[in-house]
Amino acid sequence: MIGTNSAEEIRLTIAKNHQHVQERIAEACKRSGRSVTDINLIVVTKGHSVERIRCAIELGMREFGENYPEEGAEKIQIIGDLPGLTWHMIGHIQSRKAELVVDYYDMIHSLDSLKLGRRLERFAAKKGRKIPVLLECNVSGEETKFGFAAADPSRWQDLLSDFSEIAQLPHLEICGLMTMAPFFENPEHARPVFRKLVELQNYLREHLPHINWDELSMGMSSDFEVAVEEGATMLRIGQAILGARPYC
Ligand SMILES: *Cc1c(COP(=O)(O)O)cnc(C)c1O
Repeated sequence: MIGTNSAEEIRLTIAKNHQHVQERIAEACKRSGRSVTDINLIVVTKGHSVERIRCAIELGMREFGENYPEEGAEKIQIIGDLPGLTWHMIGHIQSRKAELVVDYYDMIHSLDSLKLGRRLERFAAKKGRKIPVLLECNVSGEETKFGFAAADPSRWQDLLSDFSEIAQLPHLEICGLMTMAPFFENPEHARPVFRKLVELQNYLREHLPHINWDELSMGMSSDFEVAVEEGATMLRIGQAILGARPYC
């Protein structure tokens, strides 16, 4: 619901927010000796209307993330196949939504079980496409989070057989890891979570060196600068650009 704000006001706000986020990313890059070109900003559109997404597209944004397979698929259908748009599935995927995800999304950040991997493989093979995926890992141990259980480094070896099996699925292409830090008022508290994902990345590079672990999808509106400093290559940012979600 647009309420009392005119479309023009919304557009100006989104443009200003986007610019501000980009500046903050650039500053975090400078602090940590990184290049902004190594960071992919994904605008999370869950809960937002097609009008607002169209506005973001007009302002030059091209990478979008949705949490709920169906909600996203409906918007993707309405917006249509504009050149250069990329849709990322970043939320938990129930088995029965696997085919929908393969049909509509370009990349999956939330591959969180071998079983889901096998199902996605089946539909990707049927569709004749190879899908880039990230393995979602729960490194914080927060119980409400999805992802491969990865809070305890002494158990990381337990992940290796599932991960190598996923790597062998011919229509999925592992590109790296994804995590979500718990929400903290102070983003510094998210730092150890991001650090642990980087440690897991190092561990996997050592133990499964034939797989590409380069991408790290971590960092949201509340903690993206810390994520950049710790090595994120993909940020998933919603509210800080599009404003508060009307529902969710
Ligand atoms: C909602 C969501 C985001 C974006 O959160 P904001 O606080 O709006 O930046 C990022 N990643 C996931 C998995 C989400 O569900």
